[in-house]
Amino acid sequence: MPARTGQQYIDHLSTNPAEVWIGGEKVDDVTTHPAFRNGVRSLAALYDLQHNPATEDAMTFKSPSSGDSVGRSFIIPKTIQDLVDRREMMTNWAWESCGMMARTPDFLNCGISGWAGSAEYFSANRPEFRDNVLNYHTYIRENDLTLTHTLVNLQRSRNISISDRLEDRVALTVVKETDAGIVVHGSRILATLGPISDEIAVYPTRTHLLGDEAKKQAFSFALPCATPGMKFMCRESLDYGRSSFDHPLGSRFEEMDAVVFFDNVFVPWERVFLLGDVEMANKFAAATQSTSHTGHQVVNRTVVKTEFLLGLTSLMCETLGSTQVPHVQERIGEIIVNLEMLKACVRAAEADAQLNEWGMMCPSFGPLTAARTVFANSMYPRMAEIVQLLGSSSLMVLPAESDFHSEIAPELERYLATETAGAKDRVRLFHLAWDVACSAFGGRQILYERFFGGDPVRNTMLLYQGYDKTNAMDRVQRFLEREG
Ligand SMILES: Cc1cc2nc3c(=O)[nH]c(=O)nc-3n(C[C@H](O)[C@H](O)[C@H](O)COP(=O)(O)OP(=O)(O)OC[C@H]3O[C@@H](n4cnc5c(N)ncnc54)[C@H](O)[C@@H]3O)c2cc1C
Repeated sequence: MPARTGQQYIDHLSTNPAEVWIGGEKVDDVTTHPAFRNGVRSLAALYDLQHNPATEDAMTFKSPSSGDSVGRSFIIPKTIQDLVDRREMMTNWAWESCGMMARTPDFLNCGISGWAGSAEYFSANRPEFRDNVLNYHTYIRENDLTLTHTLVNLQRSRNISISDRLEDRVALTVVKETDAGIVVHGSRILATLGPISDEIAVYPTRTHLLGDEAKKQAFSFALPCATPGMKFMCRESLDYGRSSFDHPLGSRFEEMDAVVFFDNVFVPWERVFLLGDVEMANKFAAATQSTSHTGHQVVNRTVVKTEFLLGLTSLMCETLGSTQVPHVQERIGEIIVNLEMLKACVRAAEADAQLNEWGMMCPSFGPLTAARTVFANSMYPRMAEIVQLLGSSSLMVLPAESDFHSEIAPELERYLATETAGAKDRVRLFHLAWDVACSAFGGRQILYERFFGGDPVRNTMLLYQGYDKTNAMDRVQRFLEREG
């Protein structure tokens, strides 16, 4: 099947319902349920871009197996131009939500394509796992399926050892192996987009290393979300059913996060990619370089999100007439610096991309890691703070859309207009700023950016541990020894 339309995505979700729980209710159909349906619609709009004459060439490429036009994020890049073309495709998708939907399908499409481009890695103990990875990649590409993923075991107690302490009753664990496959039991966090995805990929993460004894927790596999025994337990929806005027982001871009419970879930062998080898599980991300591919999507999205924040803060200050205030300019200048640094990191990652040992072109890990780290640790939380600092009480002067149709409308028009904006335009803009920096949707965005790529502290420790510092130290040593 060629690249899907939005309606095909919706129909597939509706006819293959996963077990989804929210607020004490088991959901019949996420495509119509108020907690999910607008997020589903936003995702469907992305798929429609693959059929829009203005964008379809950028969004798709010819499948190497069927010759059909398939989603470009499924490409296994062979050249730097492939990466540049993929960035254009990802940028189109990211702008649809101003970077606020982070788990658009390109994220995992790039990741699984990264596995496929390094499929030999999976054959180390079990040659058939290589074929499983390749077949799975072809399957999701040709059916244009939407994926979620869960990499982390729930905390019972974290400790400061190098690897996570796992509790068999909590951590996702292989409880049985049969001729037909494996059976897994336990839980995983955190499936963003899970309830509105077709498939779930379950694999290890470099930020929560497995200990030597964790053979039964060392695996990688993928399943349909509608597999019996799998349950998605959602948080509260951030789509409160309000208009796009009142909640411009929450009413459109709820991508939902869920804990996943696995109750003796059967995984057929053809869906298993790695099993029982702790070292392979711990090295898997670095060896396949799949995180360079997902990182390409991530950092490109942060460019879009930062440019969106630049536009938002600039409009806010023009509306409030504060553009000549020096520290207002300085704060917006900080966003411009962030934007330029992020753009430079994407370009550097592409310019310094290299073929890996299996012939896949991989964006350079260094600039992507630097950008991800600084965006999570400081840039994004600070930019949300800048929105608050620049907006001040205007972030609370927020009559609802319905107030403009009520008896109080004349007073709103008289008192809330500024020198450059009518009352309704001002309020619409500041509803958007509030949804970025003050609402529950905005709070979740900050939490997401901080943590979705793993705990930032451990990520930075990994960077320190893996980074070659010898040249830098040698130079300092030579300077110390210099005479005169
Ligand atoms: C909004 C959101 C969406 C997410 N989406 C996904 C997703 O789609 N798929 C997915 O797999 N994951 C997802 N995650 C989960 C993410 O991978 C984890 O949150 C992240 O890896 C951190 O793990 P944790 O939440 O268990 O935190 P913990 O490991 O419990 O850490 C919590 C805090 O304690 C500190 N800490 C605890 N133990 C240690 C230790 N041993 N060493 C150093 N520091 C420690 C950490 O620095 C951190 O500050 C998402 C998270 C969020 C918040």
